Amino acid sequence: MCGIAGVWNVEKSYNVLHDLLLGLQHRGQESVGIVLEDFKMIKSKGLVSQILSESNFLIGNSGIGHVRYSTYGSNTEIQPLIGITSKGKFAIAHNGNIPDAESRINSLVEKGSVFSSTLDTEIFLHYISLAPYSDPILSIQWAFSRIPSAYSVVILGKDKLIAARDRFGFRPLFYGKYKNGYVIASEDSVLYSIGASKIVEVLPGEIVIFSDSGIEKVKYANTNVKFCSFEYIYFSRPDSNFLYGNVHRARYRMGEILFEESNMRGDIVIPILDSGFSGALGFSAASKIPIELGLMRNRYLGRSFIMPENREEIIKRKLVPIPEVIKDKEVVIIDDSIVRGTTMKQIVKMLKENGARKVKVGIHSPPVVGPCPYGIDTSRKNELIANQKSIDEILSEINADELHYLSVEGLKKAIGGDNLCLGCLNLNYPV
Ligand code: SF4
Repeated sequence: MCGIAGVWNVEKSYNVLHDLLLGLQHRGQESVGIVLEDFKMIKSKGLVSQILSESNFLIGNSGIGHVRYSTYGSNTEIQPLIGITSKGKFAIAHNGNIPDAESRINSLVEKGSVFSSTLDTEIFLHYISLAPYSDPILSIQWAFSRIPSAYSVVILGKDKLIAARDRFGFRPLFYGKYKNGYVIASEDSVLYSIGASKIVEVLPGEIVIFSDSGIEKVKYANTNVKFCSFEYIYFSRPDSNFLYGNVHRARYRMGEILFEESNMRGDIVIPILDSGFSGALGFSAASKIPIELGLMRNRYLGRSFIMPENREEIIKRKLVPIPEVIKDKEVVIIDDSIVRGTTMKQIVKMLKENGARKVKVGIHSPPVVGPCPYGIDTSRKNELIANQKSIDEILSEINADELHYLSVEGLKKAIGGDNLCLGCLNLNYPV
């Protein structure tokens, strides 16, 4: 749950990185870091707007950046990481998790490596250093070929910027033309929003090298694409586009298919904002039940899934019911997922306290039954309500009148393809 960005050969790259990371803020709200050419660096806990202020301005035409939500290692550590390897100095920013990081770190340490952080990201720097080549690009390829998953990364070297994805393509990454140079970001919508053109996906198993001689692409591994279905369900911006098309359209279809599968009825549909909105639109269109703003979202608190502390307090302040809309109604609420169940329980309670006659819950994804080893914080197994309880037990736990989830087949149909990771939804983990 991180966002990464890069800029190559664009004047005032600090400003461009600011705009790119601001557009990726939903992917991580704990900390922000940027490294510009000559390895000038700013890293701090907080939001992009707080950290990358005008007073911190750094001069440079190229750089990389990161917004972090910690899924591995200490949350006090901030990316990008900088390391001096036997192939030169590099800064690296990483989105994803290396599932077997602990054993890789232990084995490197046993052989004499010294780690300066608890981040799995540091493994890349060690492998680059240990690669049996003098050429930095061959060394980077060697490092990636030895780590199957899960990563999208940007790496800044002395005279090159590199963007790469693992062979499964779990996490997204795009680049585009911008002024005289190039820009890179986790989601294409962010590149469009700053006015980039010719936007292209960095393909799974591919390294894209930006240098003064232009762009070079290298395929370093055979691919077996398993794009994270949760990027479609919850995590990414609705205006982003991945291998099967637009995120909003996919969520809309999830809502439509949820209605087809559940035939759930009511007086009004209420979306849980923001990520339940597109699904609720689809559900409302398919069911012909009018959509209403029954719960208003306080925009200045962020998304509760992203914030690890004071969870219950945040939910109460974040979602505000509108009694005039809810009173005496049979309400169908649509959300993207239920993880721990605490948010949904509180929402149902709030709606009933504000006069709803019945509260029915529609979830436009299948139950989350397993954790994610590839970089999304879906919680530990024993914290996942669908891992611990049956659907009937969840219904009674959240005290709703009906509960329906989308099926796995319905989800695949809604997204429009099969090359997806569904590990946390069906326990069939690709790696
Ligand atoms: Fe995405 Fe779930 Fe797979 Fe993790 S396990 S990559 S959250 S689909």
